[in-house]
Amino acid sequence: MTKRIFRSICFVAIAVFLASVALFLCVLYNYFGNVQRNQLKTQTELAAQGVENAGADYFEGLDTKGYRITWIDADGEVLFDSDAATAEMENHLEREEIKEAVEDGYGESARYSATLMERTLYSAMRLEDGTVVRLSIAQNTMLTLLLGMSQPILIIAAIAIALSFFLAYRLSRHITEPLNRLNLDDPLNNEGYDELSPLLRRIDAQQRQIRLQSEELQQKQEEFEAVTENMTEGIVVLNSKGIILSINPAAVRLFDTTKACIGQHMLSVNRCMEISDLLSAMEKGVRAEKSITLQGRTYQLDISPVSEDGSVTGAVLLVLDVTEKAQAEQMRQEFTANVSHELKTPLQIIAGSAELLSNGIVKEEDRKSFYNRIQAESQRMIRLVEDIIRLSHLDEGADDMKRENVDLFALANEIVKSLQTEAENVQITMHLEGTPAIIYGIPQLLQSLIFNLCDNAIKYNRAGGTVAVQVKAEKDRVILSVADTGIGISPEHQNRIFERFYRVDKSRSKELGGTGLGLSIVKHAARLHEAEIALNSAENEGTTITVTFPVPK
Ligand code: ADP
Repeated sequence: MTKRIFRSICFVAIAVFLASVALFLCVLYNYFGNVQRNQLKTQTELAAQGVENAGADYFEGLDTKGYRITWIDADGEVLFDSDAATAEMENHLEREEIKEAVEDGYGESARYSATLMERTLYSAMRLEDGTVVRLSIAQNTMLTLLLGMSQPILIIAAIAIALSFFLAYRLSRHITEPLNRLNLDDPLNNEGYDELSPLLRRIDAQQRQIRLQSEELQQKQEEFEAVTENMTEGIVVLNSKGIILSINPAAVRLFDTTKACIGQHMLSVNRCMEISDLLSAMEKGVRAEKSITLQGRTYQLDISPVSEDGSVTGAVLLVLDVTEKAQAEQMRQEFTANVSHELKTPLQIIAGSAELLSNGIVKEEDRKSFYNRIQAESQRMIRLVEDIIRLSHLDEGADDMKRENVDLFALANEIVKSLQTEAENVQITMHLEGTPAIIYGIPQLLQSLIFNLCDNAIKYNRAGGTVAVQVKAEKDRVILSVADTGIGISPEHQNRIFERFYRVDKSRSKELGGTGLGLSIVKHAARLHEAEIALNSAENEGTTITVTFPVPK
């Protein structure tokens, strides 16, 4: 800006200077031209008077001093000329000043020489006898005047230009200084040009608006952070280039990074293929989801692009922990495969036996065992289907089952009684001890729980063994334990016997009519009652399973 003001002032100063010089020269030229013309007229009148009185004698010894004097007769013949020989002179009647003098008594004219560097003024006067006296004088043209004065003009011009440069420099600094001093942080508190007041007021208003907007933004940012801070889901906000703008603590933890990753590319935090695919989808403005495994857990990544006027401006990446869901899904798949397999075997036996019977291949004496086989497998299938139904019911939460006060001791007593015959058949002694113990629970599930434990204690026992069932009520808990003196479970199997369809000895379990689901039902039922299961077993010595039910006051 200083430069522009400086250049403008210099330009104006030089233009004014040149215009002044031109005007001065014009005025001077006109003034001196008029003076010279008047002098020439007076001289012509004097010369005409002289010639009138003295005739040709007037010219003898005449000192013309820069003038040229010509005497012309009425026919235009030159009678005398102070410059050229009379004989060489052409007829002068056609000259403008002569024509005027012949007609009006006096005439004037001016003519340029061939070079334009000189102008000649002519003044003519008619005498009584009709002859004409003409005087001429050389007059400087504007060009010669300018050339003649060039030296002083150049000196003055140099001084004027230097002066104007100096003044322009000072003036431009003087004009811009208050502008440079403006304090835009406090626009209304400035002393400067009045003309700047509207601008400063506007800046002040805009600054206030910006402050207000940034405060609002800050507040929204804080709100956003407060909401996302305590979320278990990870949230990462990205710009259109995949640069992290914001990341919540959960996402920092999941990606095993720090808050310092803000400003970095998402791929520098995790370089996996799935995130790269999600970023490609975001660039296309498409919502996408992928699942990845981080630190042994399964996460679902969900990217939602944010678009404005048809172009993607950023995206929100949501990270959800779906480990349980994935495990449940896997369990469901395994369960379905196991169920199909478990059902297939008895069905094949039933179908095979029925086919042999209907073909009449089976001997009469063997038929009974075939019928028994069909019956046993059908019973096993029924038990299996019943257990599956019970388990799926428990998987769904068993919400429809009513809770009530149940006396665990009375329930155990009923079950022990109902299993007494079965136990005696395999020479097992069963006994129950304890006192009434009330818990708030689901009677059907508690019945299944005790039944399965007692049934296993009989099944995996030896002839002459015992099964001791005990129900103990303590201050804030009720303990149920089922102890047997059976085959026991080796340590490597102890962790797994509560899994669905897991059996230590598959053929023995099947032989005894087991489904492999009994202990899964026990585990589920205990969990629904917030009870804890403890297993204590030694191979060939026996097994004790203890279930501890909390009793809130
Ligand atoms: P099953 O229908 O086969 O009895 P469970 O889920 O009830 O299925 O039990 C799983 C496996 O745990 C059994 O097959 C058996 O090998 C083992 N088991 C359960 N209870 C006992 C026990 N009291 N003594 C020894 N082994 C047991």
